[in-house]
Amino acid sequence: MIIGKSKRELDKMRASGRLVGQVLAHLRTLVEPGITTMEVDRAAEKMIRDAGALPTFKGYNGFPYSICASVNEQIVHGFPSNYKLKDGDIFSIDVGVTLEGFVGDTATTVPVGKVSEDRLKLIRVTQECLERAIEQCRPGKHLGDIGWAVQEHAEANGYSVVRDYVGHGIGRRMHEDPQIPNYGRPGLGPKIKSGYVFAVEPMVNLGTHHTKVLSDGWTVITMDGQPSAHVEHTIAITDDGPEVLTLVREASAVPA
Ligand code: MG
Repeated sequence: MIIGKSKRELDKMRASGRLVGQVLAHLRTLVEPGITTMEVDRAAEKMIRDAGALPTFKGYNGFPYSICASVNEQIVHGFPSNYKLKDGDIFSIDVGVTLEGFVGDTATTVPVGKVSEDRLKLIRVTQECLERAIEQCRPGKHLGDIGWAVQEHAEANGYSVVRDYVGHGIGRRMHEDPQIPNYGRPGLGPKIKSGYVFAVEPMVNLGTHHTKVLSDGWTVITMDGQPSAHVEHTIAITDDGPEVLTLVREASAVPA
């Protein structure tokens, strides 16, 4: 069942969305060759707790960290580690916060140092996929319109979209109905209504869409070892169209 949010609940989701957006914007500024993904995790947890919120991922189904840290061929759910980011890596940071009982969820993929043009383009197109998907987050559209927006743009650029992991409704719980695939057909699937809140998260691969999970039980990688990019926003559907709750302008990113 898709849970619509009241005005008051939407206000709370704006607050959790704004906070997690600020956290992610801050984490971006830390990314440079030599920093470990664990250091980024520590910074995330501190900023979240200092704001009076909880890192939603930590302990979620036993996930041990505050961010998912997925480098290069890792698609999602990577563990932060003592791995030092290096020139040419692409680094996906996914982070969630729970503030006053409501969850915000956002992700981005950051180029580390000097990155090859094919990887930069993969990130750029994945971002464009998300923007196109957000345009579909309007009352009267269908879930298939969101998936199609992602799939059509990714495949037009010669990439594949991950099938095995999807976006989701979000609210008091991080994962609510519906599942939001990054593929689909226009006009199919449940109708989108005002008051729904979705976490839309394209995962786009340079090569095959096939995935496998590492022996840690969490880290998802591409079957062919080629890089993958991942971006995510939490979006409220309103009568006026999509409201991106996790969007933060860079200028306001660094906490006072
Ligand atoms: Mg998510």
